[in-house]
Amino acid sequence: MSLKENIQQVKQRIKKACEKSKREENEVKMIAVTKYVGIEQTREVLDLGIEHIGENRVQYALPKYEALSSMGVWHFIGHLQTNKVKQVVGKFDYIHSLDRLSLAEAIHKRANQLQTKVKCFIQVNISGEESKGGVNPDELIEFCKAIRQYDTIQVVGLMTMAPYTANQELIRSVFRSLREWRDQINQQKIFHEPIKELSMGMSNDFEIAIEEGATFIRLGSVLFKN
Ligand SMILES: *Cc1c(COP(=O)(O)O)cnc(C)c1O
Repeated sequence: MSLKENIQQVKQRIKKACEKSKREENEVKMIAVTKYVGIEQTREVLDLGIEHIGENRVQYALPKYEALSSMGVWHFIGHLQTNKVKQVVGKFDYIHSLDRLSLAEAIHKRANQLQTKVKCFIQVNISGEESKGGVNPDELIEFCKAIRQYDTIQVVGLMTMAPYTANQELIRSVFRSLREWRDQINQQKIFHEPIKELSMGMSNDFEIAIEEGATFIRLGSVLFKN
């Protein structure tokens, strides 16, 4: 199957999941995760009308960003080391992996130098797997409150990764929990403005994520399989 056919198929699946959960299709944005491919295939993705590009490693992301940045909206979705912040802030439009105060501090410092603001998702480790990044849910409200001191950081929503498992109900409970945390944060009016976005759902589980309220799904392998 070609990239074009894969995209068409995925769009059909997104449409179905939206119908099933009575959501509008335009509430769900697909981020094409291009970490598996080079500049030319990333360009192809953009030429096929996909607007959002996701990358998880700074060193692989930058050449693509430099070549293609004017064409799309760029999302940094992977773990971000503080010493790499300089290479991301001012370039990428969104950071999905804000998960510690030292990182917030570094982002803020760089954003101040550049006189810019940074749209961030707070990554939450709902599943509690040690291999995964993210704020522990028990500490999430405190973490959000602490983030408010950084006025260059604009929290737009929450991000999580579900465990890699065939257990659909477990996956669903992780996504549902992220949505409930978002609603809780808004109920408590932690931020000036309500946060809207939920970055959740990958190739393996995006339909469940859509049913549970995802606004950004991050898809890699399902687009680039042969
Ligand atoms: C690789 C990656 C994805 C996409 O994963 P697929 O299973 O290939 O769709 C999504 N989010 C993050 C953070 C990733 O690193």
